[in-house]
Amino acid sequence: MCTPSPGKLFDARFARPQAFVNLHVEVTADRRFGTNSYLVMDEDTHDAVVIDSNLEPELVIDAAGARAAKVKAILLTHTDLDHIAGLHELREAFGSIPIAVHESERAVVSEGKPLRREFGPLATQIDNVATLREGEPYRAGSLEFEVLHTPGHSPGGVTLKIDGYLFTGDALFAGSIGRSDFANSDGRKLIDGIRSQLLSQPDEMIVYSGHGPATTIGRERTINPFLT
Ligand SMILES: [Zn+2]
Repeated sequence: MCTPSPGKLFDARFARPQAFVNLHVEVTADRRFGTNSYLVMDEDTHDAVVIDSNLEPELVIDAAGARAAKVKAILLTHTDLDHIAGLHELREAFGSIPIAVHESERAVVSEGKPLRREFGPLATQIDNVATLREGEPYRAGSLEFEVLHTPGHSPGGVTLKIDGYLFTGDALFAGSIGRSDFANSDGRKLIDGIRSQLLSQPDEMIVYSGHGPATTIGRERTINPFLT
């Protein structure tokens, strides 16, 4: 992004404003659902997180290995199966790091409770689950994420914001928005959350979605048929 200019007001030994973080973002998509799993790494410290865990976890594991990333946590935008499928493999690769999820979908991961009435339970229970709450920053090593609640596709849908990036999960896509036809979806909340939490962001913010290509807030504000 940008490099801090030397100056008396800023001493890197004590504090590093988030605006000066050099981030590397890498996307991997599985071939079955085209679900994105992101590696987000601080280029200076190599501290990293994985955002969402698709059906081909080896792709993001390889990306982390190639960058010598120190993966500190796994963050989930929500808990539909295609976003959590690779959790066990990621844990095997990265150790028992925290898996952070919004409080209202926590039981899906920690107790194997089904997210959707339409699908069966996952029969998987995972320990070391951390809770994401709106307004509470989530720190993983040198990375700090802002948590924006963007429900509607699912109750605990969150957008994770860091620097100039928004990881929107299945709330907002390039040219589209998430499904809201499940029993626990809410189309009104989905639109309201996108408008209040995402379209209120600056035009140049880069949007990394749960599926498909990246976009920007400015572009979606102008061309997204669900929002214009
Ligand atoms: Zn999805």
